Amino acid sequence: MLGLMQSQNLLISSILKHGARHHASAPVVSRTHEGTMHRYGWADVERRARRLVRAMEKLGIGQSDRAGTLAWNAYRHLEVYYAASGMGAICHTINPRLHPDDIAYIINHASDRVLFVDLSFAPLIDVLADRIKDCVRDVVMLCDAASMPEVKPAPGMRVHCYDTIMEASDEDYIWPDFDENTASALCYTSGTTGRPKGVLYSHRSTFLHAYAASMPDVLCARASERILPVVPMFHVNAWGIPYACALTGAGLILPGRHLDGASLTTLLNDENVTLTCGVPTIWMGLLQHLRTSGEKLTSVKRIMTGGSATPPLLVEAFRDEQGVNVEQGWGMTELSPVGTYNAPKEAQLGLEGAAFVKHALKQGRILAGIDMKIVDGNGKELPWDGEAFGDLKVKGPWIASAYFGDEPGSALDEDGWFATGDVSTIDPDGFMEITDRSKDVIKSGGEWISSIALENIAVSHPDVLEAAVIASRHPKWDERPLLLVTPKPGRSIDAASVLKVYEGQVAKWWLPDAVLVVDELPHTATGKLQKTTLRAAYKDYYMT
Ligand code: ADP
Repeated sequence: MLGLMQSQNLLISSILKHGARHHASAPVVSRTHEGTMHRYGWADVERRARRLVRAMEKLGIGQSDRAGTLAWNAYRHLEVYYAASGMGAICHTINPRLHPDDIAYIINHASDRVLFVDLSFAPLIDVLADRIKDCVRDVVMLCDAASMPEVKPAPGMRVHCYDTIMEASDEDYIWPDFDENTASALCYTSGTTGRPKGVLYSHRSTFLHAYAASMPDVLCARASERILPVVPMFHVNAWGIPYACALTGAGLILPGRHLDGASLTTLLNDENVTLTCGVPTIWMGLLQHLRTSGEKLTSVKRIMTGGSATPPLLVEAFRDEQGVNVEQGWGMTELSPVGTYNAPKEAQLGLEGAAFVKHALKQGRILAGIDMKIVDGNGKELPWDGEAFGDLKVKGPWIASAYFGDEPGSALDEDGWFATGDVSTIDPDGFMEITDRSKDVIKSGGEWISSIALENIAVSHPDVLEAAVIASRHPKWDERPLLLVTPKPGRSIDAASVLKVYEGQVAKWWLPDAVLVVDELPHTATGKLQKTTLRAAYKDYYMT
């Protein structure tokens, strides 16, 4: 027997309509390309998104067409998000920091029909035009008429000014109703693991993720909060924050292109931001600025960090020097992206000092609505004792089932679980802690060694700026850890003294067999250590 409740498609346009009707004047603030502030509310976003749909229709964009974006976090980009998805087309956010070859590959693979491009990325269009001319017919520059740059399109490609096509458009549009499983947005993983792969979100997955991410033990996105996503809207939908804010009425502060410590401090304080979200590299930059300038964060209560492991220093320094709580989330492009969040249960409320920091380094508890488990090499589920570590698998309605272009379900195992590629423990309270990426874990004599654990210890050495541990093939043990370190500016590193910091911290057999001091370490476009490059260079280090 079916229940007798109303049935309604969970659509992104309904998130926007809710924001417009119930949080009409909740602040949506952007720092523009020129550095000025642009302010409006959700009623304006909704009205302008309707106007944009009408403009996109004139360009010939229809259902399921891909609308690509190369843009920073700002209001025009937000309008494209809602207009493209709301009309039944697909908003395809592209990471402009990738190599142009990858960007061209992604645009062609997605078959983008139109591109919305920020002024900063106009030169990219000149580089890409010839390589994307088979699919891209229109390029819309996200600016006013006075700021239109010189763009060299390929023959047959049209270039428009966003504000001009908006002025020529109208708002005579009613958001359509359609199946909630319709594709809404597309985002390619940044390629730490090879060629970028497309994750195709649906209205339903986005809606459910926005609900779960807004909950008290996650973003706690109340109408009285003001949230600044430093995490780019081109990287997994800025962790879902543009949707969560419309849903809850929390203020949305969009920082534009200046993400350095000084610019962020000004914006955070001027706009009374209470929560800000981004990757550890950003927070290290902010911390450094606060320390050298002596400035204080006047309104921020919480910093959400994720995307890569949290350095302990972040937790300690922001707590002790700024009175700000650093909270960790974990996720992936394939998870929309938030999977876990580290918020305390009652048992963790009393933690202090080193115990507090140790706990803060865990990636956190699963969001309600999805599930996780850890398994050994044979697929057998491992206990939640905080000790056993194995491959982390996840399942749920905002987790990818296949990559764009592949058969539905092709990214899952026979029981419908998605292998994250992370290796982790889960403690009895359900807090997951990543110990490694599956391909980075060092398999020495049949036992596993966590590269991340070794890296975290290496950076506690006073002269070490950054550390990478990789598996290097070994004639006796299959693989052994090799440590590469870079020195802090003006310092030099004594390799033997680095090994000393491991004393008493790890089992003897975990110790790296060699320490190499290098000038710099390679990073991906999203700022993560690029271990594939290091492995290629050093995989036979112990064989020679
Ligand atoms: P890519 O896989 O291309 O790097 P993602 O942004 O989707 O792109 O990255 C997901 C991966 O980032 C996760 O599988 C995990 O390894 C890492 N990650 C995300 N959040 C955290 C975190 N809080 N701590 C440690 N690693 C994290």
